[in-house]
Amino acid sequence: MSKKRCRYCRCLFPLTKRNPDQKYCSKPDCQRARKRRWQRKKMQVDQAYRLNKRASDQRWSARNPDYWNNYRENNPGYTRSNREKQRYRNRRRRAIESISSEIAKLDALSAENSDISGTYAMISVQDLLIAKMDAKIVKITEVSMGCA
Ligand SMILES: [Zn+2]
Repeated sequence: MSKKRCRYCRCLFPLTKRNPDQKYCSKPDCQRARKRRWQRKKMQVDQAYRLNKRASDQRWSARNPDYWNNYRENNPGYTRSNREKQRYRNRRRRAIESISSEIAKLDALSAENSDISGTYAMISVQDLLIAKMDAKIVKITEVSMGCA
């Protein structure tokens, strides 16, 4: 009997003739991981499934109105981690909006006047994302290429 490596726990498991394409072993954690993966994919590609799932989640939420409040109260680590991830997403979104708006201004500038000589503060995108604003001061000077 041939064996295959489980995608989740990386253990070898025996393949059966009934399910030769099996990718996860039969351990409960591995089967849960398989289902999560299937559901994530389904949510991305199947609009009817997504709408049904949302309606079902909302009905469940209406029947269990205190669930998430209790969950957050009992799992402060989850709450803290969630808050930090949201702050990171907000910072990243603001940084991207700011960069996009600067690029739009530069496009407008180049359309009316190509000389961008001046002194600028340069901040790395990585520093913007972690809200560390150590700027390098750079001077940009137009250099004539000497047309023939
Ligand atoms: Zn496994």
